Amino acid sequence: MPRKKAQFKRKAASPGRKRRIQTLTGMRDILSDDYRYFEWVIRRASEMAEAYGYRQIVTPILEQTQLFERAVGADTDIVEKELFAFKDKGRDYVALRPEMTASMVRSYIQHGMLNLPQPVKLYQYGPCFRHEKPQSGRYRQFFQFDIEALGSSDPGLDAEVIILVFNILKSLGLSPHIQINSIGTPNSRQEYKKLLVKYCRKFRSRICQNCKKRLKKNPLRLLDCKTKQCQSIIEGTPQIIDYLDRESQADFEKVLDYLEESDLAYSLNPKLVRGLDYYTKTTFEIFSADEEEKSTGALVGGGRYDGLAPLLGGRETPGIGWALGLERVVARLKEKKIEPEQEIKYDIFLAQIGEKAKQKSFQLFDELRSQGVRIVNNISKQGLRAQLTLANKYQVQYSLILGQKEIVDNTVIIRDMESGMQEIVACDKIVKEVQKRLK
Ligand code: AMP
Repeated sequence: MPRKKAQFKRKAASPGRKRRIQTLTGMRDILSDDYRYFEWVIRRASEMAEAYGYRQIVTPILEQTQLFERAVGADTDIVEKELFAFKDKGRDYVALRPEMTASMVRSYIQHGMLNLPQPVKLYQYGPCFRHEKPQSGRYRQFFQFDIEALGSSDPGLDAEVIILVFNILKSLGLSPHIQINSIGTPNSRQEYKKLLVKYCRKFRSRICQNCKKRLKKNPLRLLDCKTKQCQSIIEGTPQIIDYLDRESQADFEKVLDYLEESDLAYSLNPKLVRGLDYYTKTTFEIFSADEEEKSTGALVGGGRYDGLAPLLGGRETPGIGWALGLERVVARLKEKKIEPEQEIKYDIFLAQIGEKAKQKSFQLFDELRSQGVRIVNNISKQGLRAQLTLANKYQVQYSLILGQKEIVDNTVIIRDMESGMQEIVACDKIVKEVQKRLK
């Protein structure tokens, strides 16, 4: 039968062909068209963080599992369910970082940064890993841009970090909206936790299975449960803000005053406790103002974590920071049709026609580049028309054209891309001529 014959033929044509390998669930390639957005957000965030005195560091992606168990908390979803943890070829239990704060604080302690002028302001960006159920805005590998300010408990710093990320998002063209809360010090939380547990026990039969466990292990997490049945119960719970100790209350008022003074749009969210154990006092999340109701989640999450350093074997060290989720920010930019700014603006395109011109163009390209001229080319394009189209895409002011005649005459054509006017210039004068025109 002809059909069978065709199938047989196809199989025979590709002996030994293996099944195609794809990315893992929840992980994806960021292709160059998309990476333009990532690069822009990272560049903008880095520039602004540097302006606020933050310095970049890079910590390993793989750390001891213990780091996250101690810092994030063994009873949190992130560690209990979502950690990519395994035993490596030696005998170490290691994990891919699910977030960056723990590593940044570990690094601060390990390298004695408490001897530097405080606060120490650090930033880094890179991939994080959580074995979550993949859905819109939620991946198993995702990029965070993270800043941490360590060594000061000044509430002014809480406001400053919020203002910084607010301004980063605004400068990208987004409309950020802050949700903020204070969860006080661990001591002041004890009383509140008891009250919360007492209140929720009354509804034990109606709360979800997860929250039944949380009631024992991590009762504050009940407050950010997203199931409908729990949300209706949570509506009536006592609010943590009414149980803050004096210090936490005074600090929180100051933070809000500073935000108001800077005209930042915020709202209080008494249920914002965040999933991680290490938070103290200020907690916040930032949404895109028009997206808040969507379930894709916050663009940024952060807060103060004054008790974290001792959990990692360091001295008492107050700290505050946030992490911005790049995938979510990029998704908002695309939805809003905001185009990334091009990083490098080129002034000159170098076109070459023919093998001899191609050979010579390497040297000319390098000469101009080393003289500080922002020059671009595309060596694999052959025809002049295709190269000039590319030059227009780069929005250069001039193109230099090297053809066979120019090679013989030792000249270069300089073409004004706006007017189309062309002039012939001697090769040894071309650098000066270009520099003169670009002035
Ligand atoms: P968190 O460390 O959970 O406070 O997250 C900080 C930010 O990282 C969030 O506001 C998100 O923008 C982003 N983020 C967290 N988890 C994921 C994920 N699974 N996929 C994509 N982005 C995430």
